[in-house]
Amino acid sequence: ALEAKGVHKAFGDLQVLKGVDLTVQPGEVISIIGRSGSGKTTFIRTLNGLEHMDSGSVRLHGEPFISAGASASGAHLFKEDFRLIRDVGMVFQSFNLFNHRTILDNVLLAPLYHGLGTRADLEAEAFHYLAKVGMAAHARKYPHQLSGGQQQRVAIARALMMSPSIILFDEPTSALDPETVDEVLGVIRSLAGDGVTMVIVTHEMNFAFDVSDRILFMEQGKVICDDTPANIKAGLYPQLRTFLKNLTN
Ligand code: ATP
Repeated sequence: ALEAKGVHKAFGDLQVLKGVDLTVQPGEVISIIGRSGSGKTTFIRTLNGLEHMDSGSVRLHGEPFISAGASASGAHLFKEDFRLIRDVGMVFQSFNLFNHRTILDNVLLAPLYHGLGTRADLEAEAFHYLAKVGMAAHARKYPHQLSGGQQQRVAIARALMMSPSIILFDEPTSALDPETVDEVLGVIRSLAGDGVTMVIVTHEMNFAFDVSDRILFMEQGKVICDDTPANIKAGLYPQLRTFLKNLTN
C-alpha cells in the first residue's frame, strides 16, 4: 500500500496543500478530481518526490518513502538505492518522451539504465507492453511522428516496463486533441481491468466515476470527499452537487 499522511505544501504565501491524506491498497484505482488550482497536480507530485512537501509523509509497503526533509532543495528520499522510487511509475500530462530517441529506445531507457535485464529480454518485454497499448507497429518511429494520444500510450508502456507497484497519472489526457482522449482512457481502463494500482488526476469525470474504486475530491488544498463512486452518486456529498451535474448518468 501507499500511504500519504498530512501532506502540506506552500508556494511562497500560497498554501496549496493543507494536510492531504491518501491510502491506496494494491489493485485499487483512485481518481483525484476537483477544480483548477485545488492542488491535485501538486499533491500527486509529492507522492514520488517530484515536489517537495513542507510537512507530512509518504510510506510505501509500510516503509518510510518520502518525508519533509530539512533540506529546502527537494524531497528527502529515505532509500538511497532508489529501489522504492522505481516502484512508483509516473505518466505526465505532456508525455515527456525523448524526441531524439525512437519509441523502442524511450521504453528501454530506464530498465536498461537500472540493469533490470539483458537487452534482448527487455526488448521482448518492450514489445509486449507496446502491443498492450497498441503501439508495437510504431516501435522504430520517433515521438514527433506520432499523435499526442499515441505518445501518451508509449509513455504508459514506458511506465509499465519498470513493473511499478503503483502508477501515478497526472492529467494524462489534458494535453490531447479531443479525438485521441478516448484511446488513452481505453488503455488506462484496460490496466484497471488487469488490476494495476493507479492514482489518476483527471478532469474526465465520467471516466473517473466509471473506472475508480474511490474518488478523492479536492478543494482548496483539502480532501473534502474520499469515497466510492456509488456513494458519491447517491448524493452523500451535497457540496459536490455542481460538479456532479456534469456527469452524463
Ligand atoms: P489544474 O486542474 O488546473 O491542473 P490543480 O488542482 O492540479 O489544477 P495545482 O497545479 O496543484 O492545481 O496548483 C495549485 C495551486 O498552486 C495553483 O494556484 C497554482 O498556481 C499553484 N502552483 C502550482 N505549482 C506552482 C509553482 N511551482 N510555483 C508557484 N505556484 C504554483
